Parts: sequence; structure tokens; C-alpha cells
Amino acid sequence: MRKNNVELILKELKHKKMVALVAPSFVADFEYPKIITQLNKLGFDKVVELTFGAKLVNREYHKKLKNSKSLVIATVCPGIVEVVNRNYPKYKNNLIKIDSPMIAMAKICKKTYPKHKTVFLSPCDYKKIEASKSRYIDYVIDYEQLREVFKTKKLENVKASKKIFDKFYNDYTKIYPLAGGLSKTAHFKGIIKPKEIKHIDGIKRVMEFLNKPDKKIRFLDVNFCVGGCIGGPHTCKLSLTKKKKKVIAYLNKSKRERIPLARRGTFERAKNLQFSY
Ligand code: SF4
Repeated sequence: MRKNNVELILKELKHKKMVALVAPSFVADFEYPKIITQLNKLGFDKVVELTFGAKLVNREYHKKLKNSKSLVIATVCPGIVEVVNRNYPKYKNNLIKIDSPMIAMAKICKKTYPKHKTVFLSPCDYKKIEASKSRYIDYVIDYEQLREVFKTKKLENVKASKKIFDKFYNDYTKIYPLAGGLSKTAHFKGIIKPKEIKHIDGIKRVMEFLNKPDKKIRFLDVNFCVGGCIGGPHTCKLSLTKKKKKVIAYLNKSKRERIPLARRGTFERAKNLQFSY
């Protein structure tokens, strides 16, 4: 996978402006705000998180659900998309054509930082494949590879400066990498009844549902990995319970942070961009 060439990324970091796109699942493996210092020291000019992308994606699901009577299957997990396309062709049309938070944020980054190369930090191979197919993502590196790079470059124990992400903060979507994160943050009240929503994590259970669907479900929030993206194969070996605690702590910390307006994700930044196709 050409875009997943770590040596090339490190070489590019020496002479090109690069922006790191950090999914909120990063807290399972790395610390905040230390990761910003680590990435800056590695050569990244900008470091942004994907939580605002998640908010934009939620807004698209709102629009679709308002106008749809049939089952909507969320498409933020490319593993699910692949399994449905391959094994459940009758559900192909239920896969709603909405960008993942990664692609949504990559589009915003290309608009905001047109001269920068975009680099996505990935918890899994499915996301790496999705990133490698997108013209909005220039490079991708997974968490295991990044941990190794930090080790080699002796950046594991750097002291965190008081930095915050460069842009696009959004607090409540920090739970997106947990199972059910999408449906819990999408504010579907008034659009769909709670009993019409189902979240399932783990491909085995997802397939069980698709083999024997519950007809009253209208929105299926599904993850290939058990636990959601914190259970991604390139995340660290901590237990899911500990990883989940880290995500919740990150969410709670973010509620106390004072983020200037210029660093927050506002709809203005997404103006004229399309997130459904
Ligand atoms: S649930 Fe697993 S496969 Fe799907 S995007 Fe998250 S880490 Fe990747």
C-alpha cells in the first residue's frame, strides 16, 4: 500500500507541510495532549482531530433518516461495508452513501490547509484501505507503526507542552470510537424512535442480525470490531474496559477545556463541501 509507506512519510515530514488527522480512538493508545507534542516533534505542522467530522457525518444521517422509511445501515466502518457488499448484496442499497468522519475531515483539511499533505492515523487495516482509496488522504499510518516510530525517534517520553489541537474541536463526539458512539451522539430524538435504533459491535453479532433481522429497526449503528474502534486490530493490548475508561476520561476532560472559538469545529468551516454522495 503506497500511502502506508512509513519511510516515505518520515522523509516527506522533513521538507513538506503535513497535517495529522487523529481519530478519537487515539486515546486508547496515546495520551492527550502529549500526542500533539509528539507529532509536532516528528515534523507535523498541524494536528487536528476527527470529532468535528463525526458531528458533520451525524448531520448527514439526520437528513437521510428524515427522508427514509427503510433500514439505514451506517457506513462509518469500512469493515461493515465490505462484509455487506460481499455477503449481503440484498442490503447494498441500505448502506447509506455518507462519508466517514475521516473523509469528512480530510475534505475540510484540504480546504483549510490546501498546501498540506494529509496523514491519517489508523486503528485498523480497513481504515487504511479506505484512506488509500481517497484522493483527500495522502498518507496513512497505523497506531502500531506510530508507536514504533515514537520509540525509534525517542519521543515516547516527551514532556507534553500545554498544546491543544490546531483546529476543529468538538467535545461530545469523542465517544464515537465506542460501540454505539454514532447513535448516542447523533441527537436523533424526534426523527426516529429509540426502539428503532440498534447498535451492534463485533462482526459475528452483526452477521447474526443480518441473517435474522428485526423488522422494526430503522437505523443500524454497526462496528466490525468488538467494542467499536477502540477494539481495532492496531490498537494496543489494554482491556476494552480500560480503553473505554480512557475515552470517557478524555470526553470529561474536554468538557472542562477552554477551547477558543477559532479552534472549534463550526459549520462555517464545512461550507460548500459535500459529505454525502
Ligand atoms: S470498528 Fe474496527 S474495522 Fe471498523 S473502522 Fe473501527 S477499528 Fe476499523
